[in-house]
Amino acid sequence: MIAYGRQSVEQADIDAVVEVLRSDWLTQGPKVERFEAALADRCQARHAVAVCNATAALHIACLAAGLGPGDWLWTSPNSFVASANCARYCGASVDFVDIDPATLNLDAGLLETRLAKAEAAGKLPKVVVAVAFAGQSCDLRAISRLAKRYGFLVIEDAAHAVGASYAGKPVGCGEFADMTIFSFHPVKIITTAEGGMVLTNQPHLAERLRRLRSHGITRDPAQMTEPAHGDWYYQQLELGYNYRLSDLQAALGLSQLVRLDAFLARRRALADRYQRLLVDLPLGLPEKQPEAESAWHMYVVRLHCGAVGRTQREIFDDLRQAGIGVNLHYIPIHLQPYYRDLGFAPGDFPEAERYYAQALTLPLYPDLTDEQQDEVIWQLRRVLAQPMSMRAMYG
Ligand SMILES: *Cc1c(COP(=O)(O)O)cnc(C)c1O
Repeated sequence: MIAYGRQSVEQADIDAVVEVLRSDWLTQGPKVERFEAALADRCQARHAVAVCNATAALHIACLAAGLGPGDWLWTSPNSFVASANCARYCGASVDFVDIDPATLNLDAGLLETRLAKAEAAGKLPKVVVAVAFAGQSCDLRAISRLAKRYGFLVIEDAAHAVGASYAGKPVGCGEFADMTIFSFHPVKIITTAEGGMVLTNQPHLAERLRRLRSHGITRDPAQMTEPAHGDWYYQQLELGYNYRLSDLQAALGLSQLVRLDAFLARRRALADRYQRLLVDLPLGLPEKQPEAESAWHMYVVRLHCGAVGRTQREIFDDLRQAGIGVNLHYIPIHLQPYYRDLGFAPGDFPEAERYYAQALTLPLYPDLTDEQQDEVIWQLRRVLAQPMSMRAMYG
C-alpha cells in the first residue's frame, strides 16, 4: 500500500537519537534548547517553546492567550479536531467560520461579516485559530487586520506548514499571528515521533508557555512570591501540565530540520507533477492562496462525481483496494457527535460540508518516488475511467 503520508528517517536521524540515548540526559535538556533555537532561527521568531505534541501546543497557547470560561474561540470547520478542542480544554466555547471553496481555508471575508454581527451581540471571539490547511496559510493579512480592529489574538495552526512562507516571510515569524503552532507527527513535514512547538515574538507569552508546559512551576527568583529557600527551591504559580518534549525527540527534530529544505523541495516537485498530470481530469485541483507558499503537507482534490458516474466512496474504496492509500481531510469538525451535542448541525457550514462530500487526499511525502506517483495517477485515471491523454503524457 502506498501511504498518504509518512516519515522519512535515515541513518543520520537514527545516529542522532542513539547519541542522546548514550548520554546522561534523556528528558527535556540541551537538545530541546537547541531544537527550539534552530526552529526559531529558521522561522525568524524570537521565542520557541517545544512541547510533546501540537494538541498540547494549542492548549497552552490558548491558556497563554487568556482563554477561559465565557470566552469564544473561532476556527475553521475544515481541520483536525484539535484546532477546536483546545478551546474546550480551557472551558471556552467554540464557533466556526466557513471556508473559502477555492483555498479551503477559513474565509476571511466571512470572518469580517461574522465579527461585525458578533460585536453587535457582544460575543466577539478572544482567539481565532487560523489553520494553514494542507500547508498554505490563510489570508493572514486580512485576519491580522481584523484582529487589531476587534481585539482578538491570532493563533496560526501551522501543524501542516513547517517551512511554508507567507508574504515572503517564514510562517511563524510573528508578523501576522501572536502565536504559531507546529506539529511533528510522522505524517507532517518533519517529525519527532510525537512533538509540537509554539512560536511567538512576545516575551510574556513565551514565559507563560514555558511555565504551563512544566506544571506551572518557576525557578526564576524574580517570579517568586518570597525569597528562594535555597538552590532546591521552586514555586508552582499556577496549574500547569507535563507537556515537555524529550531530548531523544528533539535530537530527531534537529536532524530532521537539516533536511527540511530537501523535504519541501521534493513535496513541491511532487505537487507540481500532480498538478501537471491531473489537469485534464474531472477534478478540482488545489488553488493558491495569494501571498502563501505552501509546505505541501497534503495534495487534496475535489471529485466531480456527477461527471464520472461513481460515488466518492466507490472511488475511495476502489483506490484503496488497488493499494493506493488515499485518505480524506477533513470531516467537518462541527459534524462530529461531540460538537453536535454542543448544538451544531448539518447545514451550519455548507462550504466545508460540500467540500467534504467531494474531497480525496492523494499520497504525498518526500520518499514517494516518481514511479509510485505514476501508479497513483494511473489508478486514479482508471477509477475515473479517464485514460491517459496525450497532453498529460507529454505536456
Ligand atoms: C496534526 C494536527 C494537529 C495536532 O497535532 P498533534 O501533534 O498530533 O497533536 C493539530 N492541528 C492540525 C491542523 C493537525 O493536522
